[in-house]
Amino acid sequence: MIADNLRYFEQQLLGSKARLVAVTKTHPVERLQEAYDAGARLFGENKVQEMVAKQPELPQDIEWHLIGHLQTNKVKYVAPFVHTIQSIDSLKLLQEIEKQAAKHGRVIQGLLQFHIAEEETKFGLSLAEAEEILQSAAYQAMRHVQIAGVMGVATNTTDEAQLRREFRELRGYFEQLQTRYFAQQPAFREISMGMSSDFRLALEEGSTLIRVGSAIFGARNYGVSG
Ligand SMILES: *Cc1c(COP(=O)(O)O)cnc(C)c1O
Repeated sequence: MIADNLRYFEQQLLGSKARLVAVTKTHPVERLQEAYDAGARLFGENKVQEMVAKQPELPQDIEWHLIGHLQTNKVKYVAPFVHTIQSIDSLKLLQEIEKQAAKHGRVIQGLLQFHIAEEETKFGLSLAEAEEILQSAAYQAMRHVQIAGVMGVATNTTDEAQLRREFRELRGYFEQLQTRYFAQQPAFREISMGMSSDFRLALEEGSTLIRVGSAIFGARNYGVSG
């Protein structure tokens, strides 16, 4: 069933340059292994503790994406292996990632998370805050973090017009940052947007990374594991 679902998403992504991040939070390693065996290689988790517990149990060529809010004091636990931290929302966090990545002689990829949803509880930067980070001397001296794009979580709604507006807003931020700070830098290329319920719209609006959990693994049981 996981394999069938992954095949469905492969088909949805045919002819597109977007890739799938399989969001594995709350699911046991056996299910992740099943997804791996069916071809998934990009896995997304939203909690450090859960990612750190699963990573050693699974094949080493998995690209781990942290998609949830990250506290600076937890960066050290994922620094040895995490591929991309999609939830960068402060200079302080970026500085800690730089420090921990340097310790391990690694470059960690990061996405700037923007606040695009209507709900106030969702984390993320404004364009002005992102620019303040990118203009800072501290950021410009970093050698162990590669900012590779932007990420956003849209409002939890079925209103297509609103979802499109929010996805367009995020793509607009991507384009402005690309022009002002990353011109001629092909490594700045990702727009992470779209989940199980809204990935089609996100793809139409230019997503390069869709983050899909329940449409691959089924409903999550937070009562047991999360
Ligand atoms: C859980 C989660 C997803 C996946 O959500 P589904 O609706 O299960 O596809 C995507 N992005 C983030 C940031 C998440 O926390």
